[in-house]
Amino acid sequence: MDERSRRNAYARFSADRADKQRPHMTGNEENARFVLVSGERALIELTGCEHFKALHDRNETIALGGDPGNAVFLGNDAVGPIYGVSAPIPEGEGFPRIKAIDMRSIATQGLLTDDQLALVGTGKSLTSWHARHRFCANCGAPTEPSQGGWRRDCDSCKTQHFPRVDPVVIMLAVDGDRALLARGANFIPGMYSALAGFIEPGETIEDAVRRELFEEAGIRTAQVRYHSSQPWPFPSSLMIGCMAHAETTELNIDTDEIADAAWFTREEIKTMLAFEDPAGRMIPPPSAIAHQLIASFMENEAILPD
Ligand SMILES: [Zn+2]
Repeated sequence: MDERSRRNAYARFSADRADKQRPHMTGNEENARFVLVSGERALIELTGCEHFKALHDRNETIALGGDPGNAVFLGNDAVGPIYGVSAPIPEGEGFPRIKAIDMRSIATQGLLTDDQLALVGTGKSLTSWHARHRFCANCGAPTEPSQGGWRRDCDSCKTQHFPRVDPVVIMLAVDGDRALLARGANFIPGMYSALAGFIEPGETIEDAVRRELFEEAGIRTAQVRYHSSQPWPFPSSLMIGCMAHAETTELNIDTDEIADAAWFTREEIKTMLAFEDPAGRMIPPPSAIAHQLIASFMENEAILPD
């Protein structure tokens, strides 16, 4: 099971999170390195190698406008501590090899090694959490970061705030040789994917899968099996990938959320994967967990009973 998750982009965080060290980390260690995040972009150094470079040393980080004293400690690798920090998009000619690149493009195009992509994603989730939680949700007073950036404390009412992760189910409903694919109204033309939705309070993963499939596609599903998961740093979701066995197949599409949905045979999906679909339909790239769900279906992996 874990091997499936490791195929998903952002899922190969390999540094030691070293949580006991967090209260002592300042960002001032000589061997500290930083991933720099600007909104949904990361500041990447273009190198002559296959992969670009996301880790910057302390001097470079400061030159690029990052504040090491305001960084989140992500963990240690063999070289030393790694942090995530916000930085502005570089302007002018001062840094010709540094580019601010959208993180989805970084993943889709494989611009970074898997472990650097996971660091950038984690840095992005945490820096955006800090940006959006400057005030106490309990009493409204300003909060201050602590624990190496893994907590924010309210000095006024003493509440401690922790970074949150929002669980999302993403699921492929399967009916024998067919899988249910859908496209949202905001998808790029021709793109079909698995359905997804946030888990609600009081719900199990399985219940959320069955509810979303009924609400969005009108089908009833029985058995639900976990497939793999993917941290998704936009801003801080955990995509929980599942397969669901369809009990009913007649579609009743929620047109508020879904532009189109249909059952696709393996033969049809094969042409979409090869970009040879006559109608120009396609599925998400391998960096997306939806692609991995579909790939498992195509490989006929023993995920659901016949
Ligand atoms: Zn407070």
